[in-house]
Amino acid sequence: MQQAYRASLLWFADPAQGPASARYEEDGLLVVGPNAQGQQVVQAIGSWRALSSQYGQVPVEHLPGRIIAPGFVDMHVHFPQTHVIGSPASGLLPWLENYTFPEEQRFADAHYAAESATFFVDELLRNGVTTALAFATSHSTSVDALFAQAQARQMRLITGLCLMDRHAPAALLNQPGVGTSAAEQSLVESEALIQRWHGQGRLGYAITPRFAPTSTDAQLRGAGALAARYPDVWIQSHVAENKDEIAWARTLFPQSTSYLATYADFGLLRERAVYAHCIHFDDADRALMRESGAVAAISPTSNLFLGSGFFDYAGADRVGFGYGLASDVGGGTSFSPFHTMLAAYYVGREGQTKTGLSLTPQQLWWQHTAGAAQALGLGGVVGNLLPGCEADFVVLNPRATPLLARKTALAGSLEELLFSLIVLGDDRVVERTVVGQAV
Ligand SMILES: [Zn+2]
Repeated sequence: MQQAYRASLLWFADPAQGPASARYEEDGLLVVGPNAQGQQVVQAIGSWRALSSQYGQVPVEHLPGRIIAPGFVDMHVHFPQTHVIGSPASGLLPWLENYTFPEEQRFADAHYAAESATFFVDELLRNGVTTALAFATSHSTSVDALFAQAQARQMRLITGLCLMDRHAPAALLNQPGVGTSAAEQSLVESEALIQRWHGQGRLGYAITPRFAPTSTDAQLRGAGALAARYPDVWIQSHVAENKDEIAWARTLFPQSTSYLATYADFGLLRERAVYAHCIHFDDADRALMRESGAVAAISPTSNLFLGSGFFDYAGADRVGFGYGLASDVGGGTSFSPFHTMLAAYYVGREGQTKTGLSLTPQQLWWQHTAGAAQALGLGGVVGNLLPGCEADFVVLNPRATPLLARKTALAGSLEELLFSLIVLGDDRVVERTVVGQAV
C-alpha cells in the first residue's frame, strides 16, 4: 500500500557526488509503496509543493517539526557483545580474554542466544539502525537466532558463523565433526548457513573469520575458497586495530608481507569484504584495499575506548579505498549512530592537516548511511531515500531535549542543524524507525 509522509526530509540527491549532494527539504513529501517484488520502496521524494498534487490520492501522515532521514547502516557490530559494553581493560587482547570470550561462550545455548538476539535487534532499531553487518559467535545457534529475529522484523541484516579454531578458550572454538577437523567442520556449517539464510528476504551471509590470529592456515584457506564459490556473500573480519595484535599476527603469518596481506594471501580480500578498524596501515596496505575492493568499517568509539588509535582519513582518501562507520559494540561504547558520528569527528580532528572542519556533518552522515551502503555493495538499495531505495527511514525530533530545542532553533544552515544533532543527539532524537517491509 502506498503511504506518504509530510515532514522535513534529508537525503543524498546524487550518490556519485557523495556527501556534497546532501539535500534538505524543509517542507517535503516522501512517498513509499511496493515495487514489483512486493518490497516497500521509495517512490518519490521532494518538496511537498511540487509533489502533493501528483500524489493527492495517497494517504499522508503529517509530521510537523520532524525530520525524515535514511535509516542508519552499521558496518560492524557484535551481537553477542551487548553485555560487554563498558568493560574496563588495558587494551584489546586483555579485553577479549577477560570479558568478551567468557560472554560469547554463553551463546552455545539457543535460549540465551534467542533472548539476546531479540534485545540486540530491538536496540539497533530503537537507535535508528536499519541495516547491520554483525558478528555472531562460533556457535551456529547464535547465527540462527540473529537471522530469525531480523527476519521477524524484515530488517536488512548480514551475519555469519564466527570462524576461530585456535588461540581462544576451548568452549569458544569451532568444534570438530565426525571425521572432520574443527576447520573443516566450521566451513561445512558456514556453507549450510549460507544455503539456509543468504538471500532469504533481506538477509545476507558473511564469511566471518574473527581475525587471523584465531584461525589456522587451513581454516583461512577454506574460508577463502568458500568466498570464491559464493562471490555475492560478504566477508567480515578485523585488521590492524592494535599494535600488540599486529605483532602477534606477524609472528603467526611471517610469510605475508603485512597483517592485511595475510588475508589477501588466503583469498579473503575482495569486493564485499569488510575489515573493521584498518588503523595501523601503510600505503602498501591502503593500495591493497583499493585494488581488491575491500572496505574499512571505521569504529571510532571502540578505537577511543580501547586506546587502539585513530583511523587515518587523509591516508584512506589519498590512496582511495572505501569505508563507512560502525559502532563496534561491545568494544564500541554506544549503539547510537549520533555517538559514532561525533567520535568520528574527534578522530578526523586528530589527523587534521588542513584548516576548516576535519569532517563536515554531511560527510559524517554520509559515512553512516549512503556511503556505508555503497561500501557494502548496497548503494541504491539502502542508506538513502532516492526512488527505488528500500523504504528504511528514521523520524527524528530535533527538539527531543531542552538543549537540542534551543540549539536547533538557532540553526542557520543545514551544516549547523546536522552538527547540533550529531553533537547533542542520541536515541532520544529517534522518534520512530520504519523498516521497509515486504507487503
Ligand atoms: Zn569488532
